[in-house]
Amino acid sequence: MSKAKAYSAASATSPLVRTTIPRRDPTEHDVQIGILFCGICHSDLHTVRNEWSSVMATTYPCVPGHEIVGRVTQIGNEVTGFRPGDLVGVGCMVDSDHSCPSCRANVEQFCPDVTFTYNSPDKHLGGVTYGGYSESIVVDERFVLRVPANLESAGVAPLLCAGITTYSPIRRWGDIKGKKVGVVGLGGLGHMGVKFARAFGARVVVFTTSPNKKEDALRLGADEVVVSRNADEMKKHAGSFDFILDTISADHDINAYIHMLGLDGNITLVGAPETPFPVSAFALLFGRKSLSGSLIGGIKETQEMLDFCGEHNITTDVEVIPIQKINEAYERLLKSDVKYRFSIEMGSLKLT
Ligand SMILES: [Zn+2]
Ligand SMILES: [Zn+2]
Repeated sequence: MSKAKAYSAASATSPLVRTTIPRRDPTEHDVQIGILFCGICHSDLHTVRNEWSSVMATTYPCVPGHEIVGRVTQIGNEVTGFRPGDLVGVGCMVDSDHSCPSCRANVEQFCPDVTFTYNSPDKHLGGVTYGGYSESIVVDERFVLRVPANLESAGVAPLLCAGITTYSPIRRWGDIKGKKVGVVGLGGLGHMGVKFARAFGARVVVFTTSPNKKEDALRLGADEVVVSRNADEMKKHAGSFDFILDTISADHDINAYIHMLGLDGNITLVGAPETPFPVSAFALLFGRKSLSGSLIGGIKETQEMLDFCGEHNITTDVEVIPIQKINEAYERLLKSDVKYRFSIEMGSLKLT
């Protein structure tokens, strides 16, 4: 076992502070990674503050972070896919049972025995897993991803959660080339949805409540921006979409977006509003429309997404911060005051 510098929260009301955590020595299938960047996901904040206690209560101390990019520093004897020095990524999962139907179908995120990167029972050391707000991590090579060398690491980190969360449902829908695709919300998830939909050749329309996001949406690749509070603008697009990616996690009127769909249109949720919402059955029946959800993506698909990003030069728009600014960044995250994701430069841990 070794010790690693990290940032952790001691309780739901404590700030994140500098600490030291144990990391296991690499077993024969493990890869040890020196972390360069870790993105800040809204899930980190929810978990640190125990806001998802009804679904998965937080065990403290909590070290969040599941958008990890780093370099391999050491490998186990049996590791075949990686060598020291390789640029790699780790996302929301670090292990699974490798045998259930979900694992066999390459959707490990739905494995009943999945080990999430943080706040999940740690099979090796006991307690819970500790995430990427740390100088290093040790992960089974089957959950380590190759990062294309041409991409800038700070902007790659959030691809491991925000990227795959938006890439997966778009791919699942099918070939969106030439189709009309809507993206609801222009935050960490939404701005990636726009980039991917654009790269796959869709005609992209962004729905936003803030008119001042228009210019940015167009810059990111949207063809058109609709201010969702403007009933006239909304009306113009009714019944015209093939696919809509809904990235909003605040309460909102889902029926307004179901009405935007055309025949056989689908709206997929990737955000999780706290309160259940009413859905108009008639809105779905007329036009044979569907409403679905999607959760990150499997390891195989995550690698495919990273390779796609390498080919198309896609990264997340990030604001790089030192770890010392983490608590301030959380406050700003609550106000959506970031374009569009924070990426922590983990070398800053050495300064504390
Ligand atoms: Zn996340
Ligand atoms: Zn499984």
